[in-house]
Amino acid sequence: MGRTSGWLKKTKEETEEIFRFAEGYKRFLDGAKTEREAVSYIENRLTSSGFSTDHKGERIISINRGKSLMAFVKGEAEPSRGLRIIVAHLDAPRLDLKQNPLYEDIDLALLKTHYYGGIKKYQWVATPLALHGVVIKKDGRRVDVIVGEKEDDPVFAIDDLLPHLSRTTQEEKKLREAIEGEKLTLLFGSIPLLGAEKEGVKRAVLKLLSDKYGIEEGDFISAEIEVVPAFKARDVGIDRSMIGAYGQDDRACVYPLLEAICSIDRPSYPCLAIFTDKEEIGSEGTTGIQSAFLQVTLNEILEGMGIGAHESTLRRILFHSKAISADVNGPVNPDYQEVHEKYNACYLGFGICLSKYTGHGGKVGASDANAEFVGEIRHLFDREHIVWQTGEMGKIDIGGGGTVAKFLALHGMDIVDCGPPILSMHSPFEISSKLDIYETFRAYKAFFNF
Ligand code: MN
Ligand code: MN
Repeated sequence: MGRTSGWLKKTKEETEEIFRFAEGYKRFLDGAKTEREAVSYIENRLTSSGFSTDHKGERIISINRGKSLMAFVKGEAEPSRGLRIIVAHLDAPRLDLKQNPLYEDIDLALLKTHYYGGIKKYQWVATPLALHGVVIKKDGRRVDVIVGEKEDDPVFAIDDLLPHLSRTTQEEKKLREAIEGEKLTLLFGSIPLLGAEKEGVKRAVLKLLSDKYGIEEGDFISAEIEVVPAFKARDVGIDRSMIGAYGQDDRACVYPLLEAICSIDRPSYPCLAIFTDKEEIGSEGTTGIQSAFLQVTLNEILEGMGIGAHESTLRRILFHSKAISADVNGPVNPDYQEVHEKYNACYLGFGICLSKYTGHGGKVGASDANAEFVGEIRHLFDREHIVWQTGEMGKIDIGGGGTVAKFLALHGMDIVDCGPPILSMHSPFEISSKLDIYETFRAYKAFFNF
């Protein structure tokens, strides 16, 4: 099995198209740093492509609590013969503000955070951060917050300890223990309110929040404010072949999936794009893939088509569906090649990665796709000249990871993991290859038309 860089398989015109597609992808990354912002972006894009919430239509959108979304396109075949489903997740590792985040200490106003998903804590200190989210006030009114993205906005930061004083407090500890979760506190302000006897800085920032946003301290209790990197997506490398940005797990699949579902028209089978939430913390919750949103949405779509949406009908449709779990993979890292098994790893710039199974040590937690289904996908990708590769995440006994595949496999549908490789995964600055992102779009489009 020879390996060739995907770039060598592309003509000059195709390479130009890859770079053009990457520009749209970067705009999406900058405009959708949270799951809520991603849902708004996706809704706008779908609406301009003829989708609506009318369940009698040909192209249907359904939104769950502003954090997950489904887009459905009618096909030539009846739904009872199964759907073509691709699911990607909108949430990304980050820091969330706690419910009672604000306090003052040594004349500084600080915000407490609780990290979300698998982060390496040392990557989040001493770097510019932005606040994105919503605050639901006592009277139910919603205030949207984005601070730290505009050129002249302030940013926020978590201070790190100077090397001069780090030896016993950090450097002699294990990397995992060197920075505690409770020490990821955000610097929020430092000017005390004139005349305040105590907690002057806290009072001053509360006054600012009240004047500017109409938010009071208690409103943090019913807020979802996410702390994300304040920088924008950038080209990486002297040849601009790569993209560095926050949130590419899994927006490197979300954007290609969005463009793929917009591009199809009257496919053979009905197509469903699922943009889900909470994957990074186990797909739980009302907006995760384990919730009833899928069944409820399909019910509504079937009713719109005049098909009685009985429990048994729904079960049969899901059982006969074919699906892709659209999630990223970890390619061989140039400096840590020893954690990969090079004959079965994926490589940056070698195309979309097809993974028969994920999981860890002994395939635990994997859905392990059927060989017959993997064969169908392989045949499809070759027929459509998709640049693709296979890959499992790391050496068997070193680690691994899971995806939503196993939750959809519960319904009995065929499902396989398929997405681009991402270096520095789960870091504030993840790296993708423009070629892999474009091939991911082509692969998802081919699957919807399959
Ligand atoms: Mn992921
Ligand atoms: Mn992840």
